[in-house]
Amino acid sequence: MWKKTPLYVKILLGMGLGILAGLFAVYFNLSEISNDWIKPWGVIFLNLLKLIAVPLIFTSLVKGISSLSNISKLSRIGIKTISLYVISTVIAVSFGLFLVNFIEPGNTFPDHKKLELQEKFNSTVDLNKNLASELKNESPLKFLVDVVPSNFFEAATDNSKMLQIIFFAILFGIAMVILEEKKIKVVREFFNGIDAIILKIIDLIMLFAPYGVFALITGLIVDFSGDMDLFSALGLYALTVISGLLIMIFVIYPLFLKFFTPIKYSNFYKAISPAQLLAFSTSSSAATLPVTMESVENKIGVSNEVASFVLPVGVTINMDGTSCYQAIAAVFIAQVFGVDLDIYDQLIIVVTATIASIGSPGVPGGSIVMLIIVLTSVGIPVEGLALILGIDRPLDMLRTVVNVTGDATVASIVAVSEGKLDPVPEVLVEKTHI
Ligand code: ASP
Repeated sequence: MWKKTPLYVKILLGMGLGILAGLFAVYFNLSEISNDWIKPWGVIFLNLLKLIAVPLIFTSLVKGISSLSNISKLSRIGIKTISLYVISTVIAVSFGLFLVNFIEPGNTFPDHKKLELQEKFNSTVDLNKNLASELKNESPLKFLVDVVPSNFFEAATDNSKMLQIIFFAILFGIAMVILEEKKIKVVREFFNGIDAIILKIIDLIMLFAPYGVFALITGLIVDFSGDMDLFSALGLYALTVISGLLIMIFVIYPLFLKFFTPIKYSNFYKAISPAQLLAFSTSSSAATLPVTMESVENKIGVSNEVASFVLPVGVTINMDGTSCYQAIAAVFIAQVFGVDLDIYDQLIIVVTATIASIGSPGVPGGSIVMLIIVLTSVGIPVEGLALILGIDRPLDMLRTVVNVTGDATVASIVAVSEGKLDPVPEVLVEKTHI
């Protein structure tokens, strides 16, 4: 019975039981037991996912690119992918801006709470400020310099340097496309073998997913129990962020799917639900990548060639949930501090939030440092970050779901446009054939 239960149901069960166990631990003062005996299993699960992320990105990109018959096809897929990523990000930021200007959550924020929160989180803000000013003092081309690693192994040992791995994998793949087949035959077979091994390892790790998710959620509830009153103070802000993110999930992506693919969105969501649930429990789109790839290829039918290029790139540069949240957070802080933002400032936010989300790593809280860049670009006091840090984690969980859903949506659209979707019948809109 347990064996036949679909993975997403098992993960949901793990989540539900995790919430109960967490509440139980908080209520009966068992936090220490939870931290000592349950939380570590969550950390182990997260480590397993991170462990496989770099090898997966590298092999799947090399395999995907080297299977393309020519370079022009690669640049065509590349241009489509990047354009769709930028368009969806700009839409997300614009929706965020619209909502936060419409709801104005910052204008009802009590003054005494402002002081209280600032005192509580000032040291963290200082830390982030230093990091951000280091970033700001660099050349505008720094992001390009950062993409090119000087040492492959150094890049491969740091999960935040995924873009460097992607760069080398693309270079490697391109060289394979250019070279004569007989020279690289062995290498191609080698990568096919490694790819199969990595996919098997992911299957094995996923057997542990329901338990890992249980442990992660229990740990989160226990960690969070002290901050419950923050929810009421920041309720309207949180609600604005949540509405923006839900609009992305339930309106924008379904529209994308409806116009550009024959896929029914409810079936699409069912297919990628294990990835969404994992994104929610880990707050890391990079850690979720193995499962996103598995779902998009096996449950939707996107070809390996497209998925293995579009998804790893998306994990590093496409973060619609993050950019939507950054726009809302920036304007919320401006409203609380009485900083007036005109239309020109709001346009600057669209640009900086788009760039900041591209630069944010797919790890828990990855966008906080980048948010400072958005704030300073329009003169919003960085101290305002203290207001929102306390409830960042639950919002991070939801924005990571959006980030992952956005990647999967773009992968499907690119696959359809390239004739590389061999749809699993269950995901199609009825009676549609391609
Ligand atoms: N946690 C997010 C992700 O992994 C990034 C962020 O918004 O902080 O996609």
